[in-house]
Amino acid sequence: MENTLPKGSAQYINRLNKIKVLNLIRESGKISRADIVKVTGLSAPTITRIVDSLINVEKLVAQTGIGESGGGRPPVIVHFNGESKYVIGIDWGRTHIHGVLTNLNGESFADIDIPTSVTTDYTESMERVFGLIEGLIKESKIDQSDLAGIGVAAAGFVSRHNQHIEFSPNFGWRDVDLCKPLLERFNVPVIVDNVSRVMAMGEMHYGGAEKLKNFLFINVGYGIGSGIILDHKPFYGNDGWSGEIGHTRVAKSKRNVRQCSCGKKDCLECFSSGRGIVETVERELSKYPNSVLNEVAQNNERLTGELIAVAAQKGDELALKAFDLAADYLGTSVASVANILNPEAIFFGGKVMKAGDFFFSKIEQVFQEECLLNKSRSIRILKTELGDMAAVKGATSLILNEILNFNV
Ligand SMILES: [Zn+2]
Repeated sequence: MENTLPKGSAQYINRLNKIKVLNLIRESGKISRADIVKVTGLSAPTITRIVDSLINVEKLVAQTGIGESGGGRPPVIVHFNGESKYVIGIDWGRTHIHGVLTNLNGESFADIDIPTSVTTDYTESMERVFGLIEGLIKESKIDQSDLAGIGVAAAGFVSRHNQHIEFSPNFGWRDVDLCKPLLERFNVPVIVDNVSRVMAMGEMHYGGAEKLKNFLFINVGYGIGSGIILDHKPFYGNDGWSGEIGHTRVAKSKRNVRQCSCGKKDCLECFSSGRGIVETVERELSKYPNSVLNEVAQNNERLTGELIAVAAQKGDELALKAFDLAADYLGTSVASVANILNPEAIFFGGKVMKAGDFFFSKIEQVFQEECLLNKSRSIRILKTELGDMAAVKGATSLILNEILNFNV
């Protein structure tokens, strides 16, 4: 959602000042009105007007008490009132739909995870999401009128213009509108965004990137995506399709071409995602008769990324080879993006990153070899601090972000 106030108008400047003050209060924890004047450089009457409005109208700020006086009038201390409103975050995955209900401080009051089947017809899953949201409201015992909005993280290309999922290779969806049914049912603002961008926003608001202005979040799961945060804001690109690192071509083989779910061939995802790692093993299995993964295939069990990760941790040559190839392409691709964007840090998250430190270390090693910056100015390579909660926490932060920017 974007604000359309004319630039330079009194309302526009007032809104910018309000955003500045609210974010300063939230980042500071506790701060006096006098210090807000000092830090922002705005006049005392302006700060009084803004803070009074934040306390009495928007109810996003509360008075903590009176601070220590250094002589003269004791300072009035205020803090961000994260307990006044609630948000719901939904991580709409291929096999699970996970939802949480939190307050604006990120404290969770209900957490529900339900299995779902992968289907191109999303209406059945939507019914389950309705039930999940009703369950979250019931479990948390909140008054539904205190619900500020619902954020949804979904895999796919989400249009910046109308929030429709234009195409989701993972689900096989085309032009799906998840917003409208949720809005009609619950009558609160609904924001749908790409899952990897949502994870980056979660890291920015609740994880290890709160103090960072420019960073990337690489989501390695069934597919591969990334969220780009520039100057403390998510970067969408013209249509909302930014960050699709998983669908950049990394090989141009004449034989053994790998078909990608996006319709192209030999994309990064075909080698470095969970699906890609399984494909590497399936293609090479006959060349490694001693690999423990042969037993899995012989028992007619389905080869999964988790099984290959366990084999790799035990030193299985084929499993290690598959993860090495994945790390090689991933480290190189991420270094190319880092050379273009020059971020402060790169976070890695998603199910495949749980394979173990051997995988993370290999990606980091390849990255440092391929990245332009030398060791003394190197970009930090980090694991997400939110673990499995990155997408769902990020989904709640979609609404928090709108509240902090006075868009809802
Ligand atoms: Zn692709």
